[in-house]
Amino acid sequence: METNKLQTPFYRVKEKDLLYDINLLKEALTNNWGNFIMGYSVKTNSLPWLLRYLKEYGFYAEVVSDMEYDIAKRLGYTDDKIVYNSPIKDREVWEQVLLGGGYVNFDSTYELQWIGEMSKTYPEREFKVGLRVNCDIGSLCPEEQLVEEEGGRFGYCYENGKLKEAIDIVQSFPNVKVTGLHLHSSTQSRTVKVYGALAKMAVKIAKEYDLNLEFVDMGGGYFGGRDDKPNYLNYFEEIGKELREYFNPEKTKIIAEPGVSLISRGMSFETTVLDVKDIRNHKFIVTDGSRVNLNPLVTRHVYPHHMVYGTDTSNRDIVKSQWVCGATCMEYDRLFEIVDDVALQPGDRIVYDTAGGYTMCLNPLFIHYFPAIWIEKVDGSLYQAREPWTNDEYMQKYHWE
Ligand SMILES: *Cc1c(COP(=O)(O)O)cnc(C)c1O
Repeated sequence: METNKLQTPFYRVKEKDLLYDINLLKEALTNNWGNFIMGYSVKTNSLPWLLRYLKEYGFYAEVVSDMEYDIAKRLGYTDDKIVYNSPIKDREVWEQVLLGGGYVNFDSTYELQWIGEMSKTYPEREFKVGLRVNCDIGSLCPEEQLVEEEGGRFGYCYENGKLKEAIDIVQSFPNVKVTGLHLHSSTQSRTVKVYGALAKMAVKIAKEYDLNLEFVDMGGGYFGGRDDKPNYLNYFEEIGKELREYFNPEKTKIIAEPGVSLISRGMSFETTVLDVKDIRNHKFIVTDGSRVNLNPLVTRHVYPHHMVYGTDTSNRDIVKSQWVCGATCMEYDRLFEIVDDVALQPGDRIVYDTAGGYTMCLNPLFIHYFPAIWIEKVDGSLYQAREPWTNDEYMQKYHWE
């Protein structure tokens, strides 16, 4: 079966493209450091098929909630293949991952208390913990576009001494050691330079506080799937260069935990034109996909796409303006304007490229439910990873009298 015969709307994951980025990450980490862990940020897209797939390629699950931990465990990740981050930790999961030999990066004040209690409860055990670093990227890289003007809110602040305080508290327990630093920091511009600055920061902190680190977790936030932007090879060359100033790959691992950069190349969202409407002097193209499937956070300004015309276009008019609209009954559900191009007709397909990374899991249950997800395997065959949701799924766990 070919994808252009499948019922739209649906997301498609192309295995070939996914493999490309998996291999690129592996190559970048192998060539520039050698001793590493590849993690995958489950929050980015927790599609069960994908989590299982990445596990087969040796990925750890980077989880930020008890729910994500649970799905990772159900899909076969063991506790020692978990990286547990986030400012909102679940005590039980936190203990299980620590006891099970996984990685836990502290982010909160209460974890410093929990670890004290843990140390007493298990005096015969050794605990190794990571601390998430909050440093002033704005001043390290003044030209960097930050996500929030006032800077990041995660981790322990280096500049005001909170990080040092956290290190001292953790190390005050006889059987606990700080063995890792976590430097995940997202910026809008995602430059190679900012990763160099973060790696430098890891060096500076380890030196200054005399830390013996088993891992430096460089987080995610990379560009991926775009040929006009830096890729893993560029990022990890810079990171490796900076870390080598102090760390030895034989003793200290790099953890990478990318999300969107790993998966976006091969993800698309496919829709069909249902109607063409002339309203006064405008042409509206009605499609069966929606802005809520592509841009639920309203952060996208462009929708990379290509057309798959249902019939020959050589006899069609060229139209000055056509507005592509979505399937909800909201006026704002308009995607983009096509200027001076071939007239669209019902049955034509609009395929949105690199769409679905975060979006798949941010889809709302608004008017239409979750669309289908198809996997296009390397050999071209298709595999349905999710059926579209119906009221059977929607009406689960509701009650009425
Ligand atoms: C979200 C997140 C990631 C992944 O970020 P991407 O931008 O999708 O690569 C990695 N680590 C942590 C701690 C995160 O919160």
